Amino acid sequence: MRLWVEYRPYERPFCQPLQTAHGLWSVRQGILLKLTNEAGRSGYGEAAPIPWFGSESLATALDFCQGLGGWQEPRQLQAIPPALPACQSGVGLALTSVEALLDPPKLIPKEICGLLPAGKAALDQWRVLWKQGHRTFKWKVGVEALDLELEQLQALVRDLPPGAQLRLDANGGLGEAEAAQWLKACDALPGKIEFLEQPLPPEQFEALQQLSQRYQTPIALDESVASLTQLENCWRQGWSGVYVIKPAICGYPAELVQFICDRTLDVVLSSALETGVGRRGAMALAQQIQPSRALGFGTGSLFDDDWDSLSAEQLWAAV
Ligand SMILES: [Mg+2]
Repeated sequence: MRLWVEYRPYERPFCQPLQTAHGLWSVRQGILLKLTNEAGRSGYGEAAPIPWFGSESLATALDFCQGLGGWQEPRQLQAIPPALPACQSGVGLALTSVEALLDPPKLIPKEICGLLPAGKAALDQWRVLWKQGHRTFKWKVGVEALDLELEQLQALVRDLPPGAQLRLDANGGLGEAEAAQWLKACDALPGKIEFLEQPLPPEQFEALQQLSQRYQTPIALDESVASLTQLENCWRQGWSGVYVIKPAICGYPAELVQFICDRTLDVVLSSALETGVGRRGAMALAQQIQPSRALGFGTGSLFDDDWDSLSAEQLWAAV
């Protein structure tokens, strides 16, 4: 059965611009997709590219969606090139949701990693998140001087109640010697640190491998595995640590689920700051994969709008 394809670009300003390794990010831009079959049933998806993270650019995704508008055969929609992982993900999700209504995401704090502010603000903020029910916390590192952050790490771990887990995320910003110091410090805090995320940039895969063999604390790849193609590459090169997967930009959901489940990869599913449409897809994926680790969807209220309370149809009408 053919499908009628429509798309709508959206712009969503952050309450406060996000500091990224590539400068300030002030507006989340993406594309909502709507597929309607010949029986009149619709499904929604979302392409939410993060080009500096390894997906296609928004302009490329928009170009592609433009070419897709109108009637399409399902096989055409299932043959989007791997160079467009966010489009694959969005169209794949829309195809699935034409077939079956996706439940609104149920986010239980205990199963979600709470996001701590960088620096010493984390030393107070964890209490708020703990009260909300979070038991896993993520803290950005490599933001201030190493010595200072290692001191803050000690203080944070000293304060955290038993049962709390801390994820450290360096966003690929450390040097090898620094990364080794972090891992040594983590090894000296047994049972407290869940993993160190992406200490080195993706280009330094071999060094990441070596570090993962030298220390007890697991290393998680994030920037290294933005798309399914990259995930396959890292797996083929023998990565046996954790993989952080952003379903919204990682390619066709069904292929992703199969790849992860066939190899029983140790994964964390994580947000790409998508809207509720993309998040429903990510949660559906989580139900299929059943990861043992807390979900990386504790992004808090980054946007000053009511989008998260809207259904897919309502959001489509609102943009
Ligand atoms: Mg990360």
